[in-house]
Amino acid sequence: MKCKQAFMHGPFDLRIEEVELPELGPDQVLIQLGACGICGSDVECFEGKSAEGRYDIAPYTPGHEWCGKAVAVGSNVTSVKIGNKVVGDCVLPCFQCANCKDGKMPSACLNWREVGFHPNSPGGFGEYMILEEAYTHVIPDDWRYDFGAWVETFNVSYWGVWGNGCDPDASDVCAIVGGGPIGLGACMICKESGATVICIDPLEQRRQNALQYGADIVLDPTASPIEEQIAEITNGRMADVVIECSGNDIGIASIFDIAGHSARIGVVGHSIGRKVPVEIGKVIWKTLHIAGSGGTYHWFPRTIRFLHKIKDKYDFKALNTHYFKFEDLDAAMDMACNHKDIARKVMLTFPGMDEV
Ligand SMILES: [Zn+2]
Ligand SMILES: [Zn+2]
Repeated sequence: MKCKQAFMHGPFDLRIEEVELPELGPDQVLIQLGACGICGSDVECFEGKSAEGRYDIAPYTPGHEWCGKAVAVGSNVTSVKIGNKVVGDCVLPCFQCANCKDGKMPSACLNWREVGFHPNSPGGFGEYMILEEAYTHVIPDDWRYDFGAWVETFNVSYWGVWGNGCDPDASDVCAIVGGGPIGLGACMICKESGATVICIDPLEQRRQNALQYGADIVLDPTASPIEEQIAEITNGRMADVVIECSGNDIGIASIFDIAGHSARIGVVGHSIGRKVPVEIGKVIWKTLHIAGSGGTYHWFPRTIRFLHKIKDKYDFKALNTHYFKFEDLDAAMDMACNHKDIARKVMLTFPGMDEV
């Protein structure tokens, strides 16, 4: 079967090409795409700023924030039926290596694949994609595709808050560093736990967004030292939970300053390949609990149930500021790369996207 997929050949070289899809394996699902978000990491790979996307090995098909419909299933597949709306994991473990057998995270897998970043795991920048059943998750029929495409992003925030022991409750002050898509997810998730949520971002537009998506208080870290602003709000107690979602050097360094004693800290924002000067002594004297947050498995079903519960409380559709048809991929990438001030989420759409 022939279909169109986009291939990243190198920096600023993303081309839609016609390919012959491989034969569907017995454990695989053939998915017709409905929508696929463009992530900041896709932009960084496109611009040649990140080594995560491996076009140095071979051209690959980006897109890990996808949602589609199962249109064919292999003979062994039982949990996905033809016609189901589906989403899928991004980091794919092999289940067989020593680390997988130890029950470690997919990011520890010695043979891991990453959907939308490597030639061996094509993503959602295409009319169709193929994924194993083990990584494919059914979403409710009444979800729109452009909402389903948020599951992967929201899962990153959800794991960042709940996966490694940050576990907020109504007694906590949660400081979310960064008001981009991951930060907004963390704001909503912490808010749902009953905590007081503070979102910190230097951009006015992002602070305004955060107020609509769970933040009680927003702070501009460039206005005055952020440590002083948090101290004033908390009467010197500082934050009980800090979720670092900015990946920004100043943001990362600030977590040691704004965390209270015994605070739980989740580090979610990407800073792979950089060293960030931080005051590490504060980890000792504040007895901080810092947990990294990379790649999850077994969390999509929880994320889907959580999103289903809150989906009418927040205007997720408004987060998709720009829609482009898949064939207008160049214009979509231009928007995502060059208009970051106004583009919250750029969404690629495919025929049938509006069907609910
Ligand atoms: Zn992403
Ligand atoms: Zn493995």
